[in-house]
Amino acid sequence: MDGNAPDPKYWEKMRLVAEVLRAVEGPIYIATHVDPDGDAIGSSLGLYRALKALGKDARWVAEPPRFLRFLPKEEEYSDPVDKLPPGATLVALDSAEPSRVVGVPVEGFVINIDHHGTNPRFGHLPVVDPSKAATAQMVKDLIDLLGVAWTAEIATPVLTGILTDTGNFRFANTTPEVLKVAAELVGYGVKLAELTDRLQFRPPSYFRLMGQVLSTVAFHFGGLLVTAHLPEEAKREEEDSDDFVGLIRYVEGSVVSVFLRKREEGVKVSIRSRGGVSAQNIALKLGGGGHVPAAGATLKGVDLDRAYEMVLEAVQEELRRAGYL
Ligand code: AMP
Ligand code: MN
Ligand code: MN
Repeated sequence: MDGNAPDPKYWEKMRLVAEVLRAVEGPIYIATHVDPDGDAIGSSLGLYRALKALGKDARWVAEPPRFLRFLPKEEEYSDPVDKLPPGATLVALDSAEPSRVVGVPVEGFVINIDHHGTNPRFGHLPVVDPSKAATAQMVKDLIDLLGVAWTAEIATPVLTGILTDTGNFRFANTTPEVLKVAAELVGYGVKLAELTDRLQFRPPSYFRLMGQVLSTVAFHFGGLLVTAHLPEEAKREEEDSDDFVGLIRYVEGSVVSVFLRKREEGVKVSIRSRGGVSAQNIALKLGGGGHVPAAGATLKGVDLDRAYEMVLEAVQEELRRAGYL
């Protein structure tokens, strides 16, 4: 089976998820992936608010990065847990692997809502549709099916997920359907200009860091691949480094870009591609996963030099497959 194909039973499954959630009386834990992005935080917070509006005992376990901390209110956070109470339901959102779910154990009755083609369809009720631009787009459908009345508070995080995963409607996943959904969400009172502006705010240190990162830019395979890394001395600023791969991907003539970050456990690589090259294939070779144009992996127990070697090898293989070399 092609993991990237749309799910023909999408609506049937989503209706079932809505039915299950409506019937649940016990606690519903809502969690997302490690290193959460706008879709992770937006889809999970949006669903949390919708379930609260239904009167459910919903709990949102997440740790947003600094640029997303303006979205939730203090009282909306729940602490991470080692164990779920008996009878608990877990909704994992935007999580390509059970091991990527953070803050809660993957146990109880597990609902898995995601759009990563590499998702192994884990859980009791997986709804995985890679044709969706964002998990937040799927949450939009789920909230409609739950019959919750839309408010700006619910629509804002949901639109955030769509904005960030489509690169503000620039990436290939921006279908007419996505634009219609976004228009509808704006109609519920989201302040779009304020939101997109706010999502780009970064601390002053970020702009210095950008200079350091850009000084590491290197070109490989005649410019088909562009790489950069977080300099060792800038490790403290890690949290702000998430979108640098989105910056270097615009080097003329490049079809793959990779950004590397050394961490305690290994090196995290972020991969973006275009022109028939699959970032997903590269990530899979490196033990990670993701989408065809945007994917990632964590290379455990290696240093930066070794990580570069592994990346170059994996990219070379994919460039050959795609007919560039
Ligand atoms: P990032 O480069 O971290 O922004 O990730 C790009 C895409 O790949 C996102 O959709 C991530 O959720 C996904 N991704 C990143 N790392 C992994 C991994 N180790 N396993 C599966 N998916 C990943
Ligand atoms: Mn994500
Ligand atoms: Mn996503």
